[in-house]
Amino acid sequence: MIGRRAALRAGLALAAGLVLAGGVRVLTAPAPDVSETFYVFGTLLEVETHGVPAAQARDAMAVLGAHFRQMHRDWHAWAPGELESLNAAMAAGQSFEVAPGLAKLLQQGRDLACRSEGLFDPAVGGMVEAWGFHADTPPEGDPPSDAVVAKLLAGAPKMTDLTIEGTTVRSSNPAVQLDLGAYAKGAALDLAEADLTAAGIRDAVLNAGGGVQVLGDHGSRPWRVAIRDPFEWGVVGAVSLRPGEALHTSGNYERYFDKGGIRFSHIIDPRTARPMRGVVSVSVLSDNGALSDAAATALCVAGEEDWPRIAAQMGVSAVLRITDDGSIFATPEMRARLEAVEGGFPAPITVVDLPKDVAIPLCPEG
Ligand code: AMP
Ligand code: MG
Repeated sequence: MIGRRAALRAGLALAAGLVLAGGVRVLTAPAPDVSETFYVFGTLLEVETHGVPAAQARDAMAVLGAHFRQMHRDWHAWAPGELESLNAAMAAGQSFEVAPGLAKLLQQGRDLACRSEGLFDPAVGGMVEAWGFHADTPPEGDPPSDAVVAKLLAGAPKMTDLTIEGTTVRSSNPAVQLDLGAYAKGAALDLAEADLTAAGIRDAVLNAGGGVQVLGDHGSRPWRVAIRDPFEWGVVGAVSLRPGEALHTSGNYERYFDKGGIRFSHIIDPRTARPMRGVVSVSVLSDNGALSDAAATALCVAGEEDWPRIAAQMGVSAVLRITDDGSIFATPEMRARLEAVEGGFPAPITVVDLPKDVAIPLCPEG
């Protein structure tokens, strides 16, 4: 008898019209009208438009390409650019003038950090760097010593250390080093969606290593994407995305290093200054890219007890969470949206309700 997983993989091979990078695959994909691949934030980002003349699509892609290049440069955490200059200024206790786009992104990041109780906190760039993840290749060498970790923790960098007045940014804490990696991709897809809409494109899919966002649909059908099973690179299930929705997956399976039998994730728990443990992947579906992306990262860090509350506080209700032991958890909304791909689901899915009436932790003024 063919094993369930083998059958699932075989089914996938037939079903997958187009395989794209990252944690998802676009399943419904007859001949694409126009598609183009960009390299942004260390990952390939594929944009596919549907139902518009090729010249119009290509013009829109040119605009996107220019914006992606600019975001890549301006938001880069470890290469010369606007963010690096801001980080240097903050480390020196100085205020810094940023572009309106970056100021807005930082406001959004600050708000989401408070809602996540600091589990998503882009101020932890120093911790990410210490664990070796400020590089295009996986870390080599030893993890930081306990003394270094203790020092990072004592620095207590937080987004609430930032004051953002218009486009002037400063930090009251020199340990703050911004790294926008946990939500920049989602934010970039939100901006790309706006660019495509402005160019008169109504139907498109954008796919960037673990993040997908759609405009409209694929003609008579929705854009349908599959969530990978990180254990075997099979598929957990598929989701038919509604116009404007974004699905982001975070986890320890794409960027990590193994040392002494332990897998160190690139997602850092700000409470310990060490990589998060216990979670293989979290997928979040919402109608905002930056929010889905930030929440997917936060819910990797959040423990088993806390994640439903953190999800509710961040304002996301469709979540899928896979833990180290292969257990799959889903909120009722995600469970209802999850479609079995041939062969069914790889493991039973435990439905977890989100608490109602949570008090949203808001940031102090600043
Ligand atoms: P993602 O793949 O969206 O989960 O983003 C992970 C990236 O976000 C890492 O490579 C770091 O650059 C950054 N990061 C790591 N841990 C955190 C955290 N707790 N909060 C915010 N950003 C983080
Ligand atoms: Mg993220």
